[in-house]
Amino acid sequence: MAQPKQTPATVYLVGAGPGDPGLVTLRGVECLRRAEVVLYDYLVNPAVLEHAPTGAELVCLGRHGDGRIMPPEEVSQRMIRSASDGRTVVRLKGGDPAVFARGAEEATALAEAGIPFEIVPGITAALAVGSYAGIPLTHRELASAVTLITGQEDADKTDSGVDFSALAAMRGTLVFYMGVTTVRHWTDALIAAGKPADVPAAIVRRCSLADQTTIYCTLGSLAEQIEAARVRPPALAIIGPVVSLGPTLDWFSRRPLFGTRVLVTRPRDQAAALAGPLAEMGADVLRQPVIEIGPPDDLAAVDAAISRLGEFDWIVFSSANGVERLLGRLLAGAGDLRALGGVKIAAIGPATVERLAGYHLKCDLHPAEYRAEALAAALTPQAAGKRFLLARASRGREVLAEQLTTAGGHVEQVVVYSSTDVTAAEPDVAEAMSQGRIDWVTVTSSAIARSLVALFGEQLRACRLASISPITSQTLQELGHNAAVEAEEYTSAGVVEAIAQAAKSC
Ligand code: SAH
Repeated sequence: MAQPKQTPATVYLVGAGPGDPGLVTLRGVECLRRAEVVLYDYLVNPAVLEHAPTGAELVCLGRHGDGRIMPPEEVSQRMIRSASDGRTVVRLKGGDPAVFARGAEEATALAEAGIPFEIVPGITAALAVGSYAGIPLTHRELASAVTLITGQEDADKTDSGVDFSALAAMRGTLVFYMGVTTVRHWTDALIAAGKPADVPAAIVRRCSLADQTTIYCTLGSLAEQIEAARVRPPALAIIGPVVSLGPTLDWFSRRPLFGTRVLVTRPRDQAAALAGPLAEMGADVLRQPVIEIGPPDDLAAVDAAISRLGEFDWIVFSSANGVERLLGRLLAGAGDLRALGGVKIAAIGPATVERLAGYHLKCDLHPAEYRAEALAAALTPQAAGKRFLLARASRGREVLAEQLTTAGGHVEQVVVYSSTDVTAAEPDVAEAMSQGRIDWVTVTSSAIARSLVALFGEQLRACRLASISPITSQTLQELGHNAAVEAEEYTSAGVVEAIAQAAKSC
């Protein structure tokens, strides 16, 4: 008997936006979250792919000048095949799927094959220029119309879809997509058709990304400027009086850390507290975790400590990881938070306090200065005869245990997570580092300092190191490296602030 035919799954043609991963729509994210197959163009920022579930098949369709590009028919066939097999497909395209993106052709192929589809709009590159380069496409006094044009049409072609006379006569804004390599062609054609060569023009490359660049010129000098600056795609050319507003309205490249590349070295799931604010200030943030956090070697010891939590007077957390690992383990098992009912809680720094608050736990003690010595000093007056449980990493400082013991406390330490060095850099980071393209490196603990120096060695001399605290700076110094700045408050926010202050005084 023939197998009943599968009901085909839906294909979502989704616009990923121009580059900034924040510019994908909520609907786009919803679709990505349910995707089983994602077919994406190389212009799509990989950060957008992170909305897809782990395990989804991610297929890059190739990039120009770099290996094979999947031909359009093959893309359509692949979508149809996956959807027919019952797998939900997201076809992710840069910008908007219907602006110079063959979205209609792909949707037609789906319609003909009887595959259900949905088209989710995206922010097209021209609109991104309107906001991120401060060149509004329309303006009450300067432009009442806007035209989006492809630069890939042959200007000499008799059946060209581009009517240069009409464009030359239009009093509005012209935006050329894919016009870098053909710039002489279309600028000559526009001028020959009567567009004045002195109309303001701009070329905006990698709009909405941390390395966005804008060159201001005129229609007549566009080709020369593009060639002189060796502009590579993706770039848009904007022609019209609205361009004159760019220097005033370009908020994006005026942010304090714009043009600064910062390497964040924290473990991956803790990088956001640094990467987020740095990116918001305009920095181009690269991530290279130099240590990894994982489960401890001896989980039985953690469980044993958990079963005896009520016996302790104090639990001391020296990091947010410690909180997560101990309480996560407690709640994953048979226990609940009442196990901590009679126990006091101490923490070293604000990130730890915040993580405890996430479990609705208030801290009984945390020092004004975020270091082990300060916590020990605050605890020692009441330590005699008390039982302390220190939830700690597989490596770390002993100062707290030593001082509490000296003060007459009974100290037990339990390793709740392991911290190991990363021994190979990500290829893009290794390349940026070897080319001296990294301006700042964040160093947020002594363990990170050691692993960082082991990973990059002498190459670090081309970067400025931003240290979180005097202890970390001292470790760096012992390793033969000096911190260029040190946080005043020993937190992620303090590190960001120190970099911002240094950048301001440059
Ligand atoms: N569907 C896309 C356009 C794809 S065609 C959209 O709606 O934006 C590719 C062209 O788009 C590039 O050659 C370039 O001209 C333009 N482009 C895409 N992203 C860009 C960006 N971030 N900055 C400048 N131009 C961009």
